[in-house]
Amino acid sequence: MRHPGSRPALHLESVLVSAGRPDPVPGGPLSQPIVQTSTFHAGGERGYAREGNDTISAFETAIGDLEGGRAIAFSSGVAATAAILDGLPVGSAIIAPTSFYNLHQTIFDRHAQLGRLTVTTVDITDTDAVTAALDDVAATAGAAVLWLEIPTNPMLSVPDLPALTAAARALGVLTVADSTVATPLGIRPLEHGTDIVLHSATKWIAGHSDVLSGVLATSDPDLADRLAASRLLAGSLPGSLDSFLALRGLRTLSVRLERSVASTAVLAARLREHPRVRSVNYLGFADHPNADRAAKLLDHHCALLSFTLDSVEHADALCAGTRLIANATSIGGVESLIERRGRYPGELAQGSPAELVRLSVGIEHVEDLWADLQDALG
Ligand SMILES: *Cc1c(COP(=O)(O)O)cnc(C)c1O
Repeated sequence: MRHPGSRPALHLESVLVSAGRPDPVPGGPLSQPIVQTSTFHAGGERGYAREGNDTISAFETAIGDLEGGRAIAFSSGVAATAAILDGLPVGSAIIAPTSFYNLHQTIFDRHAQLGRLTVTTVDITDTDAVTAALDDVAATAGAAVLWLEIPTNPMLSVPDLPALTAAARALGVLTVADSTVATPLGIRPLEHGTDIVLHSATKWIAGHSDVLSGVLATSDPDLADRLAASRLLAGSLPGSLDSFLALRGLRTLSVRLERSVASTAVLAARLREHPRVRSVNYLGFADHPNADRAAKLLDHHCALLSFTLDSVEHADALCAGTRLIANATSIGGVESLIERRGRYPGELAQGSPAELVRLSVGIEHVEDLWADLQDALG
């Protein structure tokens, strides 16, 4: 197996297919088999399954090669988040986006309520506002983290990742970039100096709505050791079957995403023309407030869009009315999913409009998706 972090000079599409394969041994397996054991004979590299196994390592090697760092896999995206928070001294400060993955807000708020962390929220697309917040926390908190999401879920905003990372680094503030929606094919935050990149591999990486999985990557060896220690002590490593499925899903990420991204462009343009639709958040529109930044930083326009309808009633009717597109929460699978995000109070508290519908575009035929949307829009 290639050493983690030694990213080969291949196109990312080829890394996706080949990274993390077992060493070629005559008669040996081409694909990494599922290692299913809770313990190992004494005297070897690993003693107990909590320390990992070759199936988990194969997935980690692939992500590490893609991101250009060392990857550590977890049982879910939020388990990966817990490992980051686990290493922060009590009293640390987090600067978080005002609008981002909602459960992260809940997790941060809980830590704040328990007196472990202070949380400052800021519009991460406003570079001056983030810089001011960084100055504040650097002056007052012992340790601090800048939490970024690129692009944000579900509003699809794009922070100036390189500028914010540089500003944070100058003040000794750790940066985390959740690039679940961009995927490693959209952006490699470590290349921009970000300390930790986070993926909910449940989404596009595994890609088939059949597994929970999370992964972190960093190019700082000490930080990687600390995150691995947090996983070991929390017992939050992923299962072998889940790691196998995540790696198997990753192999086809480029072809799935190519289809989904192309279909998203078509659906976004048609939705914008529909009389029931008020506004569409889609990174490929030239008049998107972060269009220039997205063009500079992201290698594709993502397979996610959100849009507002003229009423909550119509938004609910749309989500209840599609037949091919499932009304379900989650994103990034081969199947298109639709959901009114405002059904979650936390999402409304972040300022998402009540009539906001999120659409994760899968790999079905785009004309079938459009016909389904048109029928349900009425
Ligand atoms: C789903 C999601 C997470 C959480 O990941 P799980 O695998 O569901 O725990 C984190 N960030 C973003 C952007 C997500 O969409």
